[in-house]
Amino acid sequence: MNSVLWALADALDIVPTPPDARVAAMLTGWWSRPRLIGCAALRKDSTAPWFVCAPDPTVLCGACAAERHKTERRCMFCHAEVAPTDEVAVIHEMKNATVVVLGRTHQTCQEEK
Ligand SMILES: [Zn+2]
Ligand SMILES: [Zn+2]
Repeated sequence: MNSVLWALADALDIVPTPPDARVAAMLTGWWSRPRLIGCAALRKDSTAPWFVCAPDPTVLCGACAAERHKTERRCMFCHAEVAPTDEVAVIHEMKNATVVVLGRTHQTCQEEK
């Protein structure tokens, strides 16, 4: 895993999780549509690492993604609001796409493999 991911995981106090087949499928679905770049810094620097806050496919820089993660309360799998007590934080680095996926999910959605 790259250092950007670790720095972000550390800042958000989340332990990175190994790539999950469902998240990979979600990304494949997003990438079949035009990319949505939601951050001015990324438009200027096309080599900067990409981050997304699932379930929103907008591509952000690390700083924007960290901010966005605080307010995005939807479950990345079922899209319903996640209560803090029922929350599992998720951070994935997709190997082939060089994109870091941030999100949260319900305990029950997480276990449903
Ligand atoms: Zn940004
Ligand atoms: Zn859920």
